[in-house]
Amino acid sequence: MNQLTLDTIVALAKRRGFVFQNSEIYGGLANLYDYGPMGAALLRNIRNIWWKTFIESRTDMVGLDASIISHANIWKASGHVAGFADAMVDCKACKMRTRADHLIEAYFESQNTTEKVEGKSDEELNAIIQKEKIPCPSCGKFDWTSVRKFNLLFPVQLGILEESQSLAYLRGETAQGMFVNFKNVVDSSRVKLPFGIGQLGKSFRNEITKGNFVFRTLEFEQGEIEYFFDPQVTPWEPLYEQWKKDMWAFVTEQLGVQPKNLRWRTHTDEERSFYSKRTEDLEYNYPFGYKELWGLAYRTDYDLSQHIKFSGVDLSYVNPQTGTRIVPHVIEPAVGITRLFLMILCDAYWFDEAKQRVVLKLHPSLAPYKAAVFPLVSNKPELVEKARAVYDMLRLDRAVAWDDRGNIGKRYMAQDEIGTPYCITVDYQTLEDNTVTVRNRDTAEQTRVAVDELKGIVQ
Ligand code: ATP
Repeated sequence: MNQLTLDTIVALAKRRGFVFQNSEIYGGLANLYDYGPMGAALLRNIRNIWWKTFIESRTDMVGLDASIISHANIWKASGHVAGFADAMVDCKACKMRTRADHLIEAYFESQNTTEKVEGKSDEELNAIIQKEKIPCPSCGKFDWTSVRKFNLLFPVQLGILEESQSLAYLRGETAQGMFVNFKNVVDSSRVKLPFGIGQLGKSFRNEITKGNFVFRTLEFEQGEIEYFFDPQVTPWEPLYEQWKKDMWAFVTEQLGVQPKNLRWRTHTDEERSFYSKRTEDLEYNYPFGYKELWGLAYRTDYDLSQHIKFSGVDLSYVNPQTGTRIVPHVIEPAVGITRLFLMILCDAYWFDEAKQRVVLKLHPSLAPYKAAVFPLVSNKPELVEKARAVYDMLRLDRAVAWDDRGNIGKRYMAQDEIGTPYCITVDYQTLEDNTVTVRNRDTAEQTRVAVDELKGIVQ
């Protein structure tokens, strides 16, 4: 397990404006968070890089932005209404409700063993809890209800008149948007198999969880891709392997995450959905252990076939060359943008022993600010004016911070903690020779640079 504690990350996130508890002044709501100025910038950078990499820069991908509120039948066809439920138990003594699989996994972890319980039936989960006499983590008693299922979808009532309201759902995943719009996309754009549709957006699951900060929340953001192909023409295994490589490269190269904290885990036959031929999770070593970051599933033609069945609409595809009609198969890389966010904070966190400072070693493309500009002191108008001119020159091209409060050491510290790669200080020498000091976040070394070179450095 990772040395870094989640509490350290939570504290930093709050201190520096990355993440706040939702509805905090009213006592907060569990498992819901708001993203502050730094968090909003970091999230936006992650989204932009994802979109650029997987949609814009590829010739075989198109984007989509579907509604969050969606027809109840979508979720019947997808299996979410019937099957999208967590097995929960309630402690009869203290009324704590928890997911049965989490309870069992945490118990085995505390015994220094592991037990993978995904895919086990309610009866099997019950049997394990009873056999091990797993106590309630909250009150210590052993007095559980039997395992019960709770549906994770959020129902919404459409219509203002109560009598004529109709039931819809907040989407539990973005993926269904790609399936129900498959025909619209084929008919309205120049796509040919194999091709993918990708989407970024919020999803909602009424999860009752121990949270782990933004790792598992009721409202979260996903980046999902449905990559459609004809298995007779495009064999699935090389395609699947290529997606594994693309996902790995995205995380390690584009986001700069250390490969030593990543691993692939193949789903067991028990936990894999019956229609999936292969499912693997890319897992990250969070402070609470290796957990799913990004799922990759070969889902066959299950989803489109389900929607054909439930809607009665023909969603098949005709190969323009051969005229053959098929229901495309699909490979789905599905990631949580907010899980990427938490991974990035954890991975970038560095306590510099030598200088006793906290640094977020963010990849420059992720950093909320690319540079910060300071006047050495704030009570010398010539310095402030010159520093303002430098700031104005840089801030139109890139996000750049301004700070003239307190001593310079404190200002460096604040920028280190939000991962700003460079701090530019305007001092007395600047007024003489038009040079400034540029301090490197990771080494804390300063070099003297001509003002004319700054744009290039920040770019
Ligand atoms: P888990 O097993 O952790 O509950 P899952 O297998 O249900 O996840 P998927 O349905 O495959 O997840 O969703 C795709 C991705 O969406 C996941 O890999 C994860 O990154 C993200 N995700 C799913 N549920 C949540 C949540 N409640 N909060 C934040 N991210 C989530």
